[in-house]
Amino acid sequence: MVVIGAGEAGARAAMALREQGFAGKITLVGDEPHGPYERPPLSKSALTDAPEPRATIILTPERQAEHGITHRSHTRVLAIDRAAHQIELADNEPLAYDRLLLATGASARRLSVEGADNALTLRTFDDARALRARLRPGQHVAIIGGGFIGLELAAAARARGAEVTLIELAPRLLARAVPADIAAILAARHATEGVRILTGTGIVHIETDANGHAIRLSTGERIACDAIVAGIGAVPETGLAARAGLAIDNGVAVDARLATEDPDIFAAGDCCSFPHALYGGRRLRLEAWRNAQDQGNAAAAGMLGSEEPYAAVPWFWSDQYDLTLQIAGLPDEGRETITRDLGDGARLDFHLAGDGRLVAASAVGPNGRIARDVRLAEMLIAKRATPDKAALADATVKLKGLLAG
Ligand SMILES: Cc1cc2nc3c(=O)[nH]c(=O)nc-3n(C[C@H](O)[C@H](O)[C@H](O)COP(=O)(O)OP(=O)(O)OC[C@H]3O[C@@H](n4cnc5c(N)ncnc54)[C@H](O)[C@@H]3O)c2cc1C
Repeated sequence: MVVIGAGEAGARAAMALREQGFAGKITLVGDEPHGPYERPPLSKSALTDAPEPRATIILTPERQAEHGITHRSHTRVLAIDRAAHQIELADNEPLAYDRLLLATGASARRLSVEGADNALTLRTFDDARALRARLRPGQHVAIIGGGFIGLELAAAARARGAEVTLIELAPRLLARAVPADIAAILAARHATEGVRILTGTGIVHIETDANGHAIRLSTGERIACDAIVAGIGAVPETGLAARAGLAIDNGVAVDARLATEDPDIFAAGDCCSFPHALYGGRRLRLEAWRNAQDQGNAAAAGMLGSEEPYAAVPWFWSDQYDLTLQIAGLPDEGRETITRDLGDGARLDFHLAGDGRLVAASAVGPNGRIARDVRLAEMLIAKRATPDKAALADATVKLKGLLAG
């Protein structure tokens, strides 16, 4: 078994293959120099923890030995030869496979304006280290993009005492994935923390000289700053699959078992798109930590012959200051929103489809206050429940009780 990409999905799949009883050889190939590590801390604690950031290793050398997994770091896979059942490595002999998993993730989308080469991005541990050095009192950081990465970065930069201007092209923050009311709560908090937020604002170009950078905005304003970071989304790593002739559809296209059209090649995590049964077979590509883990497990099962479809409820979280945001399901499938006030500044929105089915829940609140309720909402979504609307709105009605109904 060969796994390409030693990130969350790849490392999890390698472990799962062994845990699920596979006794043969498992090789995990990745192009980064580090052991497989967690990405979520890179925009959070890795930027703020003193004295030095440390990678949170998922699969330590001890666990690799225990599970009999060979991890080849620093090794880029250049091509897949499907007919010969082998992969071509940058600096080594070809490596044969019986079953192959593509867990190549995504890379940070780059700005395309003039001067964009001077903008940093945040995807890897080395990116986080480079960025962290720029977050200091007296430094002015311009963040381009008001999505999760941009906002988490803004919170971390403020925690380190840097001045922050955040520039977003859309009329509001988190426009892609988060309902407007919840996004507004986060926007208000960032403003209170001193982040200058400019929405509906484009970048014309970036100038750089010995004194630093300046961004020319679509409004005509010129913003001088010490560092620029672009958090404008991620692009799935599909090059290998495309060159091997596999179908691409906003990611490596897989079926519900995470198999590509080649029965010996699977894909998992940020790099793939898959049909989801809960949403009428709608094809999704999720850039989310839990999805990468769950799909790693599911792909391992598929590689070992399981026919079980992947059907986990999409789930995402973000931490900014003491606030946690969690989203279960797909809010854009909802036609009606019912709000439950959880107290202590915490709020949970239920999103119902036209037929009353609960399709998503989005919540924000301090200190993990929302976690338990989102977990229960997630179980209701998985059950395809059509809960009573008055009960959803009433915080004295326990969600656990609705689950039993
Ligand atoms: C800064 C940051 C913060 C995040 N925060 C959150 C969060 O708060 N909550 C949440 O739910 N999700 C979060 N995520 C998303 C989550 O981390 C990702 O969804 C998850 O890491 C995806 O795992 P993956 O294994 O699919 O891809 P990755 O973790 O990207 O791993 C893919 C690996 O494959 C390697 N690779 C690619 N091509 C090749 C090749 N040809 N040869 C060899 N190796 C190759 C890459 O270098 C990489 O190491 C965050 C992501 C980032 C970047």
